[in-house]
Amino acid sequence: MKNRKRPPWLHAGGPSLFIPGASVLEKSMPAVIIDGKALAQRLRDRAAERTKKLAERGIKPCLAVILVGEDPASLSYVGSKERALAETGISGLDIRLPADTPEDTLLRRIAALNEDPLVHGILVQLPLPGHIHEEKIIMAIAPAKDVDGFHPVSLGNLMAGRKGFVPCTPLGVLHILKEYAIPTDGARAVILGRSNIVGKPLANLLVRKDSNATVTICHTGTRDPASVCREADILIAAAGQPGLVSADMVKEGAAVIDVGINRVPDPEAKKGYRIRGDVDFESVREKAAFLTPVPGGVGLMTVALLLHNVLDAAEGV
Ligand code: NAD
Repeated sequence: MKNRKRPPWLHAGGPSLFIPGASVLEKSMPAVIIDGKALAQRLRDRAAERTKKLAERGIKPCLAVILVGEDPASLSYVGSKERALAETGISGLDIRLPADTPEDTLLRRIAALNEDPLVHGILVQLPLPGHIHEEKIIMAIAPAKDVDGFHPVSLGNLMAGRKGFVPCTPLGVLHILKEYAIPTDGARAVILGRSNIVGKPLANLLVRKDSNATVTICHTGTRDPASVCREADILIAAAGQPGLVSADMVKEGAAVIDVGINRVPDPEAKKGYRIRGDVDFESVREKAAFLTPVPGGVGLMTVALLLHNVLDAAEGV
């Protein structure tokens, strides 16, 4: 196996990786696979400590989780969020509503939760059934309880560099970069996807002075996205297209972060499907310096950082 040259954007003398045996300066193939489980466990441990401290002040953090309907993927996401809450000692107020719940009813429930001093955060699991306007629902959540960070006030604060809730998945991407000492300062970052919950907030986080990356967003209108991706020191795939990023789209030594969570049919799997990311893992691992797995990567960060957003809300920071 050939030794790969140190990527030029990894400046000498930078911090060493926290993974034993892996060194920024002696990178050899294949990619370091990011251990989302370990990172998430550390975040959960820290969340449990923060929860205990709040308990000493007589505060019991509480997140209201609203699920409308029984979309299987949503049920699974809500389940993993509620398990993480329970493990940490944060109360989960579980609100399940039938798929035909009128929009007005949902708005009234949110208004009541906004007024409830014992509820610190409100999360409405998306997507919502077609008759409910998602934007109207997101707008109804009080910005002080908007722990998902989807409210326009939260997004505006992020863009303006002000304090406020930041969506958990982009936060998770940044957390991975930081924990693995992947430098963003001066790096070229390319994001595939321009959604309000991943691509755009992530671009805002990366261009902030404390990240200092030069950011390009690719989307369905981008001409020759492969050549744009090949310029990336940090390539983040959040397009919702299984296996979209192949090795020929990746610069040697890049850090590749796979946000995609896609269900693809698999007759051999018990459930008839398996989860696949937006990155062709096997080919890209031979070229990248760092790569996140799916599952076991960004998704775990999202859930763990939600806990911290709820704790921020409970602490009133
Ligand atoms: P979305 O459908 O709202 O947005 C996808 C974006 O990708 C769009 O802006 C579109 O322009 C762009 N896009 C689509 N095809 C493209 C292509 N071929 N090249 C370049 N851009 C392309 O999706 P989303 O909600 O942002 O989610 C994206 C993916 O991330 C999905 O797979 C989703 O399941 C996953 N996701 C994961 C987490 C997590 O916790 N890991 C959280 C949220 C979303």
